[in-house]
Amino acid sequence: AAVIVAIDGPAGTGKSSTSKAVAAELGFGYLDTGAQYRAITWWMLNNGIDVTDTAAVADAAAKPVIVSGTDPAAPTITVDGVDVAGPIRGQEVTSRVSAVSAVPEVRTVITELQRSIAASAERGIVVEGRDIGTTVLPDADLKIFLTASAEARAARRSGELGGKDAADLAATQAALARRDAADSGRKTSPLAKADDAVEVDTTDLTLQQVIECVVTLVQE
Ligand code: C5P
Repeated sequence: AAVIVAIDGPAGTGKSSTSKAVAAELGFGYLDTGAQYRAITWWMLNNGIDVTDTAAVADAAAKPVIVSGTDPAAPTITVDGVDVAGPIRGQEVTSRVSAVSAVPEVRTVITELQRSIAASAERGIVVEGRDIGTTVLPDADLKIFLTASAEARAARRSGELGGKDAADLAATQAALARRDAADSGRKTSPLAKADDAVEVDTTDLTLQQVIECVVTLVQE
């Protein structure tokens, strides 16, 4: 059977970089579940749906056709055939994704999609998100929960966004804190560490060290 690796944790802990590299090293597929929540959010905005209108979002949840390409060297994401890899990283989507992903109907649709992708993995798949180990794939062979200090997470995210100075860093830290609060303060909070997950604090580790740590755990 295919090996299922779940990697959960908040934004800025190195989840995506780690997950992609681990998948590439092991010859596994890679699935970015945050990209799927971003893609459905992009579709809602593009179709004029008021994302604060929970009923409207729930009604539309099953409409967009989201397709994720799982090659870790070149992951792709399309909605109704449109490549949305660029726009889903924009400010508009980022600031609204927490509201859309809080809607239970959205979570049901996306969770089913994630399970079907994992079920069709050949050698294995690394699935990264917030609720993979707890909810989406509770029978995963290995569950990792990545953490890092708020300062380290903001510094990494600010670097990714091309931030140059202390003001950029402070703004990124504030935005991350807002999204963390929005993601965890709600009833349908996705972010949780499974009881059987291995917690890895990446604050003082290099990306290479985190990758090696996870690869070793998979191979054990
Ligand atoms: O991982 P990323 O930062 O791209 O995730 C974007 C958003 O998608 C998160 O802030 C969260 O609201 C939502 N998400 C989720 N469940 C997941 C992955 C992401 O609710 N498994």
